[in-house]
Amino acid sequence: MAINSGLKDNADNVENEKLIERLVDRTIKFYELDIMLEDPERAVALRLRAVEKITGREYSEINKYSILAKEAKPNIENMIGTVQVPLGIAGPVRINGDYAKGDFFVPIATTEGALTASINRGCSVLNSSGGASVRITKIGQTRSAMFAITKSERINEFIAWADDNFSELKREAEKESKFLRLKKIEKYSDKDTVWLRIVAETGDAMGMNMITIAAKNLGLYVEENFEGVKFLSESGNLCVDKKPSRITFEQGRGRSVVAEATIPGGVVKKYLKTTTEQMVDINHRKNHQGSELAGSFGYNAQFANVIAGIFLATGQDMAHVVEGSHGITDMDVVGEGLHVRVTLPAVLVGTVGGGTHLPCQSECLDIVDCRGSGKSPGDNASKFAEIIAAAVLAGEISLIGALSARQLSEAHKKHNR
Ligand code: ADP
Repeated sequence: MAINSGLKDNADNVENEKLIERLVDRTIKFYELDIMLEDPERAVALRLRAVEKITGREYSEINKYSILAKEAKPNIENMIGTVQVPLGIAGPVRINGDYAKGDFFVPIATTEGALTASINRGCSVLNSSGGASVRITKIGQTRSAMFAITKSERINEFIAWADDNFSELKREAEKESKFLRLKKIEKYSDKDTVWLRIVAETGDAMGMNMITIAAKNLGLYVEENFEGVKFLSESGNLCVDKKPSRITFEQGRGRSVVAEATIPGGVVKKYLKTTTEQMVDINHRKNHQGSELAGSFGYNAQFANVIAGIFLATGQDMAHVVEGSHGITDMDVVGEGLHVRVTLPAVLVGTVGGGTHLPCQSECLDIVDCRGSGKSPGDNASKFAEIIAAAVLAGEISLIGALSARQLSEAHKKHNR
């Protein structure tokens, strides 16, 4: 394990001590160090020393890491070190998808004991049942540009104008990106506020940066070309970014994915120590009745657990676990087997951009064979979304199995203690 040696390599210790003092008394702001020094590794070390002084403690673990601060620069401000998260491996899981075909191991970064074991057990069940069948049903990142209209009687006129000028709006939205493809514009209004919710493909990038730029360019064009409308903001919360919502549950965001499998009754008995009927019953009462009563958008057992573990390992935007938590788990008796289907309306992933370029995160993307750009833009992100859906399916099978067999607390006792 490398220890940040940003200070050791620097001959001028007196200068370092002076800088630390100035950070402590706030005559230099933490962020100003980067501009003053143009030496990211040294800046990290100095900031950490200042935090040690301010808080009166030593932080020797935060200081141990192997990535270069200069590589992490696009991802973090005021960097003082890193936090290590244990990385486990689940699988392999057999996947029959349009993009992911074959056996895949799944990296899980988590501090939740029993999670990786649970996914792993679900993968074994899937492999004994012919694997998971997976398909993408929809692709579209979203952003809602927000406008004020001076006369609310003109809203219909404005909406008709936006329809008539779709090609111009598309040209404006796409002008700064090689990868963004505007697919449609949905319109919403309330009193004198109007939202143009743009839906776009963003290649292999998760796409929030590029669609935000697209929304801004579109918004400025609208303001210039439709008199009486003021462009207020690139985002008006109908996106809906990083908040649970009915619109995401129903219409999807990013990639909508379905994964399913039929598990023979014997496999349910052997691996999960329960019956198909018991699984169906628990799934219905918990994931459907319970979620309905709770007013939840997650008619599922643990989508968020699996998605968080994979997102953290592969450099995704962790706040999009919110979108990933939406979705439904269905279980039905089919013949003498158990048919399980997970519907994930909003898997927001990228295999380029964001934190995917960081060294550990890109190695984790290598484990699933999804690093970087696909053959056609978007193929790799679609493959990755399919693998995630298969892992989510494994997690649902395992957890509903454990609940059906009343073994959940035993599993936690075994793995967490
Ligand atoms: P995001 O839009 O997901 O927040 P970035 O702003 O980092 O992420 O955008 C991704 C970057 O990667 C863009 O600069 C884009 O031009 C580049 N890029 C390279 N290859 C691809 C690809 N196959 N799909 C999408 N973007 C790509």
